[in-house]
Amino acid sequence: MSAATSTPSATSTLPIPSEVRVAIVGSGFSGMGVAIGLLDDGERDFVILESASDLGGTWRDNTYPGCGCDVPSHMYSFSFAPNPDWTRSFASQPEIWKYQLDVAERFGLRDHLRTDAEVLGATWDAATQRWTVETARGTVRAQFLVSGTGPLCEPRYPEIPGMETFQGTAFHSARWDHDYDLKGKRVAVIGTGASAIQFVPAIQPDVAKLTLFQRTPAWVLPRPDRPISGVERFVFRHVPFATRAARLSIYVRNELFLLPFRYVRALRRLPHRIGLQHLERQVKDPVLREKLTPTYDVGCKRTLLSNTYLKSLDQPNADVVTSGIREIRAHSVVDQDGVEHEVDAIVYGTGFHVTDQPIADRVRGRDGLLLADKWAPGMEAHKGTTVPGFPNLFMMVGPNTGLGHNSIIYMIESQVHYLIQALRTAHHQRIGALEPRQEVVDAENEAIQKRLQGTVWNDGGCASWYLDERGRNTTLWPDFTFLYRRELRTFDPAEHVVTPQVGRPAASPAAPEAIPA
Ligand code: NAP
Repeated sequence: MSAATSTPSATSTLPIPSEVRVAIVGSGFSGMGVAIGLLDDGERDFVILESASDLGGTWRDNTYPGCGCDVPSHMYSFSFAPNPDWTRSFASQPEIWKYQLDVAERFGLRDHLRTDAEVLGATWDAATQRWTVETARGTVRAQFLVSGTGPLCEPRYPEIPGMETFQGTAFHSARWDHDYDLKGKRVAVIGTGASAIQFVPAIQPDVAKLTLFQRTPAWVLPRPDRPISGVERFVFRHVPFATRAARLSIYVRNELFLLPFRYVRALRRLPHRIGLQHLERQVKDPVLREKLTPTYDVGCKRTLLSNTYLKSLDQPNADVVTSGIREIRAHSVVDQDGVEHEVDAIVYGTGFHVTDQPIADRVRGRDGLLLADKWAPGMEAHKGTTVPGFPNLFMMVGPNTGLGHNSIIYMIESQVHYLIQALRTAHHQRIGALEPRQEVVDAENEAIQKRLQGTVWNDGGCASWYLDERGRNTTLWPDFTFLYRRELRTFDPAEHVVTPQVGRPAASPAAPEAIPA
């Protein structure tokens, strides 16, 4: 598969500055959005710390065959940087990564980017009101710390007896081994999530044998993907507001999914019927069809879109195993029925550490409190962004900001707006440290959990990574996304414990100049 290539400028390898106002961890869509927001607000005193050797986050890391986005391209891009040149209605990974690289050049992000600078730890120092951020390339102190590492950062591997004894080639979908040629090989795939349904049909025609180990069948709906014609691209490039209009229509269409998913249970029958029809059209073998028929409501797990996945499983070289995996041996995977499937390679399409993100093990707030310990009973934040006990820390795509129905970039832009408001408030009111009040966060999260009751994500009859190990949904925003944006329109110091800048009295609380949402 062709991947976008980039030419990182020399600035990425510049030394880590000793002190900045804002340190951003990660350079995916979140980190980029924050950086552009800061520049737009006239703030240049920041650094983007990236562990890899180039920017891009999950769209840099996921290069598996068939990788693409299941949110239409004109909505899966920054609102302030529309791309009239998308070549398909659903963009592929190389095109999305190229978009990120282009945006980075256009907004001058590389001057602030430091690559190969994995954040090893960050500790709040109350005396100086600074975060001490240790990276693989040195230490930087920052007044504000923004985590843009996101939930799709760290691949999750299953725990299967004997995994380590496997003698063939094994890799995770997010760390695809392009040096290993799957052609003519016997390949086991574990997982049937958003990633697997994209790479399975891409590799199935080439492999000798594909054995898919399915724990739970996925609802797969038709993917209305098509090339965007030259004429359309001409219109997007030259007709004012054409990309905005396209974006708006996608946005509204996606928001309508809230009706079956949250508001009108009876409407869930509609996507259910579409899913069953799609399955019937794509899979002729009735036994296989039975195996692939989900028993939960559409939307309970992330709804998947594909015109090729189901069909690719109804091929002579494909086999779907549903009994579960008992163990992995040197050259085989043994299922729960005791059948040994000999394979040359295993591809883990088993997802990411979503509710136990690694960054939480590296951030220490007030009194040495570890974010992972704070979140041990479940992830919670104020407006999905700030956390009691962690002054001046902002989590992009934090708890209950994920979406099962629309573009995460809309949520990211909402958070960026909020962050800028907070920074302005801190500046105008000479606030040295701010953190949300625990009672505010408690009340807010109780309300979120109430709103999630009865939604398809909580009550749709499935187990999903939307829910943490205690069964609490700490990942999804429960409502229309414009309601989230409305909640983040203004930063309210009264909801926070604020500490004046060290050595300076707090200014009278004048409202910072509002910026349009
Ligand atoms: P995922 O949705 O978490 O799916 C993981 C799969 O692995 C599930 O089918 C799961 O089964 C299975 N699994 C996990 N442990 C297993 C075990 N021990 N034995 C057997 N099966 C096991 O991961 P993903 O497919 O990588 O997708 C993650 C997220 O990435 C998506 O939900 C989406 O947010 C994002 N993504 C987005 C796009 C896009 O188009 N925008 C594309 C790819 C990924 P169960 O279902 O039984 O748990």
